[in-house]
Amino acid sequence: MDLKLSAEEQTFQQGIRSWFEEQMPEGHPFRGGSIINMTRDEMAEWQRTLNSNGWGAIGWPAEYGGTGWNDAQKAIFQSEAARVNAPGQSPFGVTMVGPVICAFGTDEQKAEHLPHILDGSRFWCQGYSEPGSGSDLASLRTMAVRDGDDYVVNGQKIWTTQAHIADWIFCLVRTSTEGKPQQGISFLLIDMKSPGIEVKPIYSIDGDHHLNEVYFTDVRVPVKNLVGEENEGWTYAKFLLGNERAGIAGTDIIVNGLTNLRTVHNYLVETAGESYQADAFAKRHAELSVRYESLQMLENRALFAAEGSGEALILPLPMKTLGTELQQDMGDLAYDMLGADSTVLFTAEEFDPKVGDNEPNFRKEAPDMTHSMLFNRASTIFGGTTEVQKGIMSKFVLGL
Ligand SMILES: Cc1cc2nc3c(=O)[nH]c(=O)nc-3n(C[C@H](O)[C@H](O)[C@H](O)COP(=O)(O)OP(=O)(O)OC[C@H]3O[C@@H](n4cnc5c(N)ncnc54)[C@H](O)[C@@H]3O)c2cc1C
Repeated sequence: MDLKLSAEEQTFQQGIRSWFEEQMPEGHPFRGGSIINMTRDEMAEWQRTLNSNGWGAIGWPAEYGGTGWNDAQKAIFQSEAARVNAPGQSPFGVTMVGPVICAFGTDEQKAEHLPHILDGSRFWCQGYSEPGSGSDLASLRTMAVRDGDDYVVNGQKIWTTQAHIADWIFCLVRTSTEGKPQQGISFLLIDMKSPGIEVKPIYSIDGDHHLNEVYFTDVRVPVKNLVGEENEGWTYAKFLLGNERAGIAGTDIIVNGLTNLRTVHNYLVETAGESYQADAFAKRHAELSVRYESLQMLENRALFAAEGSGEALILPLPMKTLGTELQQDMGDLAYDMLGADSTVLFTAEEFDPKVGDNEPNFRKEAPDMTHSMLFNRASTIFGGTTEVQKGIMSKFVLGL
């Protein structure tokens, strides 16, 4: 694959580079940010900044506020963003439900939701998983029963990232128990302020509140909030999962991790002197960097794969698997380097669930590697576990 840029592409790259360098100077607090370590206000601010330049959702069709860029231009944009360690966008609106609404939504749904996703004023969460229905998602049991112009929804979702700060949730619900489980699922857009919705926090191993349980008791959802056809939700759900997996490969998170590793390394050189084994670190850092380079090549291949082709469908799977394993290995290296120091980054207070979500905590001030090491234990689980991804690849790629 030829990744050399034409003269026109170089000019395009220069424009993007100047913008990012101006927006994300060295030391900018949003550098390396993501939904894990930014507040809702910070994420909204970054979304507004991108959108004010027409880059709120670069992958959307131009008619809905996207850029209309070709694949090479999108790849250039992403690599320039990574170059300055620019923060990622909240994925639930921009890369998950937004493209579904663009592709399958009604005109009314597009007008109602797309502008708010673009300008960062409306946050979304993803209501797919349920207790007992994670990998086996099609077994989900949250019911939506038609009653006049509404569906009445009852059931429970779990592991719902950011439900506590989201305005809307996109949900897979069961509208029929006939036929194969996949055939009775519908895709609903639900206002989180609807009476009958209760959100309960789940605190994860990193001490933070990202996750929730969401309970639905007789929640009335207007039928006009159904995306596409009733009982065809599995088609839209799969369309969305392809985008989600590619996003979770997390090349932006990896660039940030490699930079953080360097920071930790410099700190250790200064403080630990000769007892610090710089050579051992250099070897492992180099290996991680090479794996990152090959992941980038895979990402470019996926970006240039023809829409709907076998490559376009299957490449997000190895990207997700390799990217998340790499994220975990980076955390492990930091942990090994810091040794006992890594544990003092946490105090009992940091694990206190009463600490408010928007209050400053140690993540803002201290090297973040222990926190991301702990959070990243989950990266090989969410968006489809590594075992399940490997199962699909062995079936469709190796024909096993
Ligand atoms: C941090 C985090 C954030 C999340 N955010 C969201 C969110 O916002 N919205 C949402 O809907 N969900 C979310 N999830 C849920 C996530 O999608 C599920 O956890 C995931 O799909 C796995 O499902 P499960 O937890 O029910 O595990 P299970 O499916 O019960 O799996 C348990 C174990 O069995 C293995 N296993 C299961 N089936 C197979 C198989 N066929 N072959 C081989 N091994 C198998 C799995 O690999 C795993 O090791 C999140 C999860 C985490 C950890």
